Amino acid sequence: MAQPPKLKPASWLVAAGRPEETGSPLNTPLVPASNFLLEHPRAYARDDGTPTWEALEEIVGGLEAGKAVAFASGMAAVSAVFNQLRVGAVVVLPEDCYQGVVGLAMAGAEQGRWSVRRLAVEDTTGWIQACAEADLVWLESPSNPLLAVADLEAICSAPRKPGTIVAVDNTFATPLNQQPLEFGATVSIQSATKFIGGHSDLLAGVATTRDQTFWQALRKSRELTGATPGTLEAFLATRGARTLALRLERAQANAAYLAQRLEAHPLVARVRYPGLPSHPTHAVAKRVLKGFGAVLSFELKGGAERADAVCRHTQLIRHATSLGGVESTMERRAGIPGQEHLPPSLLRLSVGIEDAEDLWADLEAALRKAAG
Ligand SMILES: *Cc1c(COP(=O)(O)O)cnc(C)c1O
Repeated sequence: MAQPPKLKPASWLVAAGRPEETGSPLNTPLVPASNFLLEHPRAYARDDGTPTWEALEEIVGGLEAGKAVAFASGMAAVSAVFNQLRVGAVVVLPEDCYQGVVGLAMAGAEQGRWSVRRLAVEDTTGWIQACAEADLVWLESPSNPLLAVADLEAICSAPRKPGTIVAVDNTFATPLNQQPLEFGATVSIQSATKFIGGHSDLLAGVATTRDQTFWQALRKSRELTGATPGTLEAFLATRGARTLALRLERAQANAAYLAQRLEAHPLVARVRYPGLPSHPTHAVAKRVLKGFGAVLSFELKGGAERADAVCRHTQLIRHATSLGGVESTMERRAGIPGQEHLPPSLLRLSVGIEDAEDLWADLEAALRKAAG
């Protein structure tokens, strides 16, 4: 398949990761294999991959003009990056960061494997400094769940200590809205569970890099930890990726609409969406993001109880965790163990591809009922 610079991302998503041989099925099939007939370079799946995994890797890797490694989950991809650290390494994490990544980093710190520093997502000067000092600079932007946007353009191109890994969790933006490798990051991470898969029916992760040595190290980590993707999951993630451009376009148009409507609602205290001019990092977002994404957070007047009531009263918007599916989902994040530091009434809304007016009608009715 031609390399992506020749094709726009929406075409690449449809065209890549397909067999080329005459008579092959149009789609790369499910190949449920642990081992392959010798003498062939592909011997054992955990070491050498499978055609089904490689279809997903070609699609996602190509979007960032890099080489990808598919994993069992987003956290398996994250772990493969942390596995590259030597004992005593310095890790810098954002203050607002996916809780699984924080959990992994803190567990390693407790075991004495590395030390962890935290920085505000917006602290560009601090991050640039971190690139010169730390061993792993871990960025997540837009961040989960506060939707802060980091100046990845400035940070990923900053001078580094030799060997420093600059990793970007690009799950919220997807490679369609943000290109961390283009800015100079070592590795870009996707929880393919979210927008890539897009249907809330699988767990998978992908790490993409332009550094051949780092790619080999990620492959080695997958081989030795056994963090291999499931065959069905890789197939479904590939199927989901075909429509990513279409889904994201619709979902982020819906999100922008809901963000505006929510901001004008008397019960809403604050809306966080990078596309809103009121967003603290809107100016950076306009520069680094091609689109503002399909996740927003909002806080209610009336605290946690009213926020819980809103979640109970929506019907079209499902009360569920996670994000990036065709269906809109919402939850109160501070209600989750370990997330109590968040504003108590903050609701994170992952906007799906439903009709925007139906979504707003659902939300408005739930707000009205919650107000009692
Ligand atoms: C979900 C998520 C992950 C973890 O992905 P899993 O597929 O659940 O392991 C990592 N980072 C972000 C930003 C996420 O939203």
